[in-house]
Amino acid sequence: MREQLLAHPVFKMASEQFERSADFLQLSDEVRERCKWPKRLITCTIPIKRDNGETEVYFGYRVQHHLSRGPVKGGLRFHPNVDLGEVAALAMWMNWKCALMGLPFGGGKGGVTCDPRTMSQHELENVTRRFTAEMLPFIGPETDVMAPDMGTNEQTMAWIADVYATHAGHLVPGIVTGKPVILQGSEGRTQATGHGVAFLAARAIQLCGIDYDSATAVVQGFGNVGAHAARTISTYGVKVIAVSDVTGAIHSPDGLDINALMQYVKDTGGVKNFPGSSPIDPDEMLLLECSVLMPAALERVITEKNAADLKCKVLAEGANGPTTPNADAIIEKRGDIFLIPDILCNAGGVTVSYFEWVQNLQRFQWSEQEVISKLDTMLAAAFDKVINFAKYNQLPNRVAALSLGIKEVADVKAQRGLYP
Ligand code: GLU
Repeated sequence: MREQLLAHPVFKMASEQFERSADFLQLSDEVRERCKWPKRLITCTIPIKRDNGETEVYFGYRVQHHLSRGPVKGGLRFHPNVDLGEVAALAMWMNWKCALMGLPFGGGKGGVTCDPRTMSQHELENVTRRFTAEMLPFIGPETDVMAPDMGTNEQTMAWIADVYATHAGHLVPGIVTGKPVILQGSEGRTQATGHGVAFLAARAIQLCGIDYDSATAVVQGFGNVGAHAARTISTYGVKVIAVSDVTGAIHSPDGLDINALMQYVKDTGGVKNFPGSSPIDPDEMLLLECSVLMPAALERVITEKNAADLKCKVLAEGANGPTTPNADAIIEKRGDIFLIPDILCNAGGVTVSYFEWVQNLQRFQWSEQEVISKLDTMLAAAFDKVINFAKYNQLPNRVAALSLGIKEVADVKAQRGLYP
């Protein structure tokens, strides 16, 4: 299994990042091994009758990296690229993210290999319900709490909650986060990840000595994270000059109207041909001169092929794993880009998921203002902690963030000892 995981490019990347921080922390071989490998890798098949009457068998995964610090926490992804290695890498990153933010969770991630863009609501509902049924022995509010990720949303979470409630015989709101507010979801959860990306990007822009009024942003990916990041950063006065999604990339040097673009995407299904913008090659878009570049889609988009040509001052990683270790090395050598690493930059989502779980356990509902102000306080503290640690130890921001998260987990493992 070790070899199988390491053969996957995304897991290999997460593993290389881990080893670099483990070296810095001088972890013993024993603790290193215990921290690195996932506790549980669950694979299942999901047979579904499609709308055309044919039966299709999908593959589903849930990887629970660690339960040492609390229940496993992390999203559920529906995407054609999903496989065990990718999900295991994403689970590992969730682990360090939760630990960095001081959340009482281990990391997890799930996924189903499917293309939601080609599936009806009915088919998506069936996949979600059957996947949840397959996971019932392994999930629960004290063991594993799922949330939205790429290709899933609050409706998906409502279906998961419904399957779980049907089997439990009563509603168990803490079984998932990112639920609709009427189903005891949290105010502020939908925009939390994008809000956090923009909030931290704005701090980094300030640290670089750039005025918001003269600042520009480029956003790759216009799903839940990218769209809310773009909307929030524009409220600071930053001009969003280019945006891309699966339908294409658009450019407008005077700045895009993000609220209008969000409505346009709702109506047409993508950013392509947005009135007032011109098309641009998606790869070239990444190389536009801008104050902040926000990759907010898939892994491995900043690579050794484009890292040397980036013209951003801040790289704010809304996605998980958008930058490869080879690209990291180039960015470190350049020394002119301020990197906000994924496990910090996109931690707003899981932080509000934690708030949602706490509210669910207490049967209490906080206001949106309360949620966002608690979120901003935690993000600002984590940001300061990472950059101070990086400065003090002369580390790149990514290694600093990962080391802070990994150390939490390693310390808990060492303290708990081995059973038997
Ligand atoms: N899928 C999100 C992430 O990658 C959120 C996970 C959660 O809220 O549990 O951080």
